[in-house]
Amino acid sequence: MTAAPDGLPPLAALETARLDWRRDDTGEEAPRSADFDDVYFSRHDGRAETEHVFLDGNRLPERFAGWQERRPFVIGETGFGTGLNMLCAWACFDAHAAAGARLHLVSTEKFPLRREDLARALAIWPDLVSRAEALVAQWPEPVAGVHRLGLGPRVTLDLHFGDAAERLALLDGRVDAWFLDGFAPSKNPAMWQPELFDAMAARSRPGATFATFTCAGVVKRGLKAAGFAWRKVPGFGRKREMLAGEIDAPPEDRRRTATPWFTPLPARPMQHVAVIGAGIAGAGVAAALAERGLAVTLLDREGPGAGGSGNAQGALYVKLAAETNPQSRVYLAGLLHSRRWLSRLDPGQSLWSPCGVLQLALGEKEPARQARFLARHPLPSGVVEGVSAGQAAERAGVETGAPALDYPAAGWVRPDALCWRLAETPGVAFRQAEVTRLEATREGWHLLLGDGTTLDADQVVIATAALANRFAQTSALPLQPVRGQVSRLRLPRDTPGLGRVVCAGGYVPPALSGWLTFGATFSPNDADGEVHESDHDANLAEFARTLPAYVAALREAGADLTRSGLEGRAGVRAASPDKTPYAGPVPDAEAWREAYAGLARDATRIPDIPGRHHAGLWISTAHGSRGLASAPLCAELLASMICDEPLPLEQPLVDHLHPGRRLIRDLMQGKHESASARGVGNSS
Ligand code: SAM
Repeated sequence: MTAAPDGLPPLAALETARLDWRRDDTGEEAPRSADFDDVYFSRHDGRAETEHVFLDGNRLPERFAGWQERRPFVIGETGFGTGLNMLCAWACFDAHAAAGARLHLVSTEKFPLRREDLARALAIWPDLVSRAEALVAQWPEPVAGVHRLGLGPRVTLDLHFGDAAERLALLDGRVDAWFLDGFAPSKNPAMWQPELFDAMAARSRPGATFATFTCAGVVKRGLKAAGFAWRKVPGFGRKREMLAGEIDAPPEDRRRTATPWFTPLPARPMQHVAVIGAGIAGAGVAAALAERGLAVTLLDREGPGAGGSGNAQGALYVKLAAETNPQSRVYLAGLLHSRRWLSRLDPGQSLWSPCGVLQLALGEKEPARQARFLARHPLPSGVVEGVSAGQAAERAGVETGAPALDYPAAGWVRPDALCWRLAETPGVAFRQAEVTRLEATREGWHLLLGDGTTLDADQVVIATAALANRFAQTSALPLQPVRGQVSRLRLPRDTPGLGRVVCAGGYVPPALSGWLTFGATFSPNDADGEVHESDHDANLAEFARTLPAYVAALREAGADLTRSGLEGRAGVRAASPDKTPYAGPVPDAEAWREAYAGLARDATRIPDIPGRHHAGLWISTAHGSRGLASAPLCAELLASMICDEPLPLEQPLVDHLHPGRRLIRDLMQGKHESASARGVGNSS
């Protein structure tokens, strides 16, 4: 595959595995790859083989039993297949690890199984049933990229769909034990290449172990050249020998040579974290940290969902660029993540609905833009599909008058109720207070509160939307307030309903409890939170432009579609200059300006100086009007950074979200005067 212009593999559907359910030598059906002419596992003794080769080969029972670290134990694998190895590792972890221990599984897969095949293959193992169900329920669409699944309260699985060597080169995280699986080197020589072993070595923790079923020369040579020591140990069943070994001194991660400013900081104490701001971004981080066993104080000057996340109903949707770019990748990953995360958080769907979203091709340019998007992004129809005006009308339940992009995995959410639910996560203590100042101490952070009291925490996350750059440490981050007002209409009884969220310039979700919401306005540089009649007019006009036939039907049914018939709510959201959220560590802007001043003269001369950050200070903001798609993934990203876990996005996308990216860009463009001098600092 050729890389897209942003250096990442194409944003496209992957080929799924073609299975051939042949009877094996025991006379029973077992999954076999029709493409590689090799088995996924032996039905007769596949479990015992997995346990011998991968679990015992990495000494997992004893290592799990002795695992005392706060960070999770990380297993990396090179061919997920049916997931049998990983489910067995999870069962082994549950059998041996102490109560507070956590397990993080990272696995690559170039030809994902179809969901039906996965379920059928795993049904062979009755004692793995509940684990298999958790996997099958969250099984992602076959889209290249990272897909994070919460398998259980203490077990996370990151599926990196794509070629093993390519995906490991993009992985931001390090591994304690490797399962070197994949079809036999003779059947799948393309996988067992030096690049794979090098990428494994570079993503290993010191002392990381590996185990593999094969003893092929190409594997021994590749492992040795990459720095792994290997030895032959007894193989399973008829296989006399297999390989196991370790790497004591993994090579340095050289990917940071071109971007030393993004070098991560060493892990810090993380018993107690203060999260400032209880919207989706902050409440999401608080819940993600509490689920990892941390004590979290969630602070907000009002309450959960009081700001831009306080609407009764909002659309979970994205608008992807016609040409692939990092921002679109982040949003698509975010949409798919939100969908999985909501399914797990609220299986009964009281907080959300995956009803799907139609993005209508209205206006002069949008039809051509959508056509370009579809031509360049062969994504599965479960993710996005181009539909005719007739199909759109059928799916929406009303005449749309235009073709559309249909996102069946998207839908709507109750952001206000969601914030409350997240704030109630066990381990999160909500406190109503305004944080006025942050002071770094030797151990962590000292927070000064508006009521004159103080609070100490090991680490702090700032998630206060447009107010996030009000602190001395964040004042260099350019942020813009964006006012948004939604309008709500009480529907008369028996009015026709919508089957999908319908978007064009704004959005209209299906009615909730008899109220139809539509909006929202988008007024940059406006921090006014009052409801304006003129914004109702703007919302009505956009609604009538988007769904004229539906508006006519509502009028017919007696709905009062005038400003006096409407209620509304206005919120202030935040946007960055490039419209990508900020999610990551807070850079020490003064130190960056000094260290990287030379970039203004020559942007190609990169000094070998790691970026200084305000240690233990993090930010998640600038989610604009798509926070339902971006904030939950950013919450996982921050929780993973704080807890020293593998990250749920490819490294270039982690960099794309880095709060320091604008500082570097400005330095490279010679704009290194202070942010306040440019008037783009505080948003007041
Ligand atoms: N570990 C699996 C399990 O527990 O079921 C069995 C793995 S199966 C023998 C080999 C897997 O490697 C297949 O799913 C195949 O699609 C995958 N694979 C083959 N070549 C690959 C590559 N270059 N990158 C990633 N995965 C690959």
